[in-house]
Amino acid sequence: MSLDGTYDDGNIFAKILRGEMPCARVFEDDHVLAFMDVFPQARGHTLVIPKRSQARNLLEEEPQNLTGLILGVQRVAKAVRAALQPEGLVITQFNGAPAGQTVFHLHVHIIPRWEGQAMGRHASGGMADMDELKRLAEQIAAKIS
Ligand code: AMP
Repeated sequence: MSLDGTYDDGNIFAKILRGEMPCARVFEDDHVLAFMDVFPQARGHTLVIPKRSQARNLLEEEPQNLTGLILGVQRVAKAVRAALQPEGLVITQFNGAPAGQTVFHLHVHIIPRWEGQAMGRHASGGMADMDELKRLAEQIAAKIS
């Protein structure tokens, strides 16, 4: 799916938002939901998505939703740091399939990095153990401030 198209409310993140699909939830406020990526590129890979949005990508998002989104990203990123003590953090998002996007509800990746540890490839790793993801989600949630 390129940058042109229409929002499909059957996408996996829309289902998670409606409670139709499970997730390892980290944090939620009025603006965002944060949960663990099930195909993590590193331990602690977390996703932050806007809750009241029908934007497939950053370009489509209503400007008034962006503040809540980026504040949520920063808050969760600080909690990931506090919980897992990474030496770096990749914070990224993809717009359109040719750019690497695979789920078409706007989202931001928070990926912890450690010196000398390679980051897994995007959208091509193995599925993580759900119990382990829930433990990580609890660790990160405990550091939300
Ligand atoms: P993107 O490729 O930027 O659209 O990112 C989508 C991300 O969602 C990928 O990193 C996937 O591993 C992740 N993902 C796909 N399905 C799920 C799911 N059910 N729960 C959590 N993460 C998911």
